[in-house]
Amino acid sequence: MPDSRVVLITGGNRGIGRKIAEEFLANGDRVAVTSRNGDAPEGALAVSADVTDSDSVDAAFTEIEEKLGPVEVIVANAGITRDNLLMRMSEDDFSDVIDTNLGGAFRTVRRGITSMIRAKKGRIVLISSVSGLYGVPGQANYSSSKAGLVGLARSITRELGSRGITANVVAPGYVRTEMTDALPEKQQQDYQAAIPAKRFAEPEEVARVVRWIASDEAAYISGAVIPVDGGLGMGH
Ligand code: NDP
Repeated sequence: MPDSRVVLITGGNRGIGRKIAEEFLANGDRVAVTSRNGDAPEGALAVSADVTDSDSVDAAFTEIEEKLGPVEVIVANAGITRDNLLMRMSEDDFSDVIDTNLGGAFRTVRRGITSMIRAKKGRIVLISSVSGLYGVPGQANYSSSKAGLVGLARSITRELGSRGITANVVAPGYVRTEMTDALPEKQQQDYQAAIPAKRFAEPEEVARVVRWIASDEAAYISGAVIPVDGGLGMGH
């Protein structure tokens, strides 16, 4: 097994982030999980932090560095939706989503890269969505935030690619979570009909790709958008 690394997953208390945390834990890594409610899977360090607040992000990193060591892998996964048709979307619904999904990744990465630069290595994985580059009606805010993550990863790649740091985007399609399970059966069938794979992803299928893109094996991949969407968004 490769050396155990310190991995931070934002929004790792539930959903896809929790599966990502479990995947790294199973790999033998030292995992810290942040969220506002402060829960975490067994074996991970649980840290309360709000990605919309720089001081909170800074305090979380300080705690993780003290308890586990410098963060070597960042998975910026925390995200929210505030769906509405564009003409009814409020300024707050737009800016809250941008501030959490894109601003949260920016704050987390900005705080985390100092120790990566010092170590001359690091892995940054930004969790986007098929919605970012495909576009989804009712998600002007969410799609914009998720597309923004591509620009962020590519700028990081050009700034820090020579320091042994990679930054990639993982773009899931529909993932089977409590949210998709709660959709009416007919709506689930309609969505699945549009997906070449004809099914939703299991959260583990996203988590495994995240673990791999953060591994040594993927050292020469940076600035890439890796879809995990059953073929829904082809053309990224
Ligand atoms: P969940 O709603 O289950 O989880 C979202 C996570 O983000 C929670 O851990 C939540 O914790 C955290 N979070 C939200 N706001 C903040 C904040 N301000 N500060 C810190 N943490 C925050 O979502 P999913 O697991 O479904 O999604 C995870 C990621 O995957 C998101 O980025 C989402 O956009 C993306 N995605 C999801 C898809 C799906 O089908 N589910 C498809 C494509 C992409 P807490 O509320 O406690 O702070």
